[in-house]
Amino acid sequence: MKRDAHIHTPYCPHGTKDSIENYIKKAMKLGFQDITFTEHAPLPTNFIDPTPEKDSGMDPHKLIAYLDELNTLKEQYKEDIHIRIGFEVDYIIGYETETTSFLNIVGPQIDDAILSVHFLKYNDEYTCIDYSSEVFLEFAQKLGSVQAVYDLYYETLKQSISANLGQYKPKRIGHPTLIHKFQLAHGEQIDDDDQIKQVLQLMADNQYELDVNSAGLAKKYCKEPYPPLPYVRYAKSLNIPLVFGSDAHQVADLHQFYDEIFPLKD
Ligand code: ZN
Ligand code: FE
Repeated sequence: MKRDAHIHTPYCPHGTKDSIENYIKKAMKLGFQDITFTEHAPLPTNFIDPTPEKDSGMDPHKLIAYLDELNTLKEQYKEDIHIRIGFEVDYIIGYETETTSFLNIVGPQIDDAILSVHFLKYNDEYTCIDYSSEVFLEFAQKLGSVQAVYDLYYETLKQSISANLGQYKPKRIGHPTLIHKFQLAHGEQIDDDDQIKQVLQLMADNQYELDVNSAGLAKKYCKEPYPPLPYVRYAKSLNIPLVFGSDAHQVADLHQFYDEIFPLKD
């Protein structure tokens, strides 16, 4: 069965305005039988988005429209494709209460969700670590090294897995090596083998699914999936459910590099 469970929509303020219906039609054409729309959930209202355009999350005023539109399309296409309604929810250290409240409200109305780390907290300030290579390098300078950024990332990721976010906490962990996104920009060889394995072990122990995210392959400073294939195999050996995610922000990105990942070669 072909499934893509990490897809953005026109409700993403930093994505394209490609219509949800066009994503559905293209997904069907590509042979997907099961798809999840995972728009970036609105960020907590008391959290200040550190990105220049403050466009990391969906506009909270469009939440109802998003759910309504997906419910209509889900019903309309139910004979042809299984559409799941979801969110990509940010794990932000210090905003667990707000995130839990959000999940308690939307949880009963959705089918699937991803928990991702995009923001790292340092000295009471937050940085969006996948925003740009400039922001990443500046942050590494602030922390003293690229290694320190990786350490902080994996620490935050582990907290996201252990955090109590209530009964509607997402069951899947998003792109757990996102910190590799600018690896070819800083050019340093960071040995994070142990850290990735620890994260995957923690996911297995707590029964999380893995977002096998192909978007990194398309990023010029990354050129590998999140996580890289040896870790996808490692996750499989731990019996972690593997769930493909194109992380498409435009219709053209659906399916990106699917065939380079599945079927998984040993
Ligand atoms: Zn996005
Ligand atoms: Fe993400």
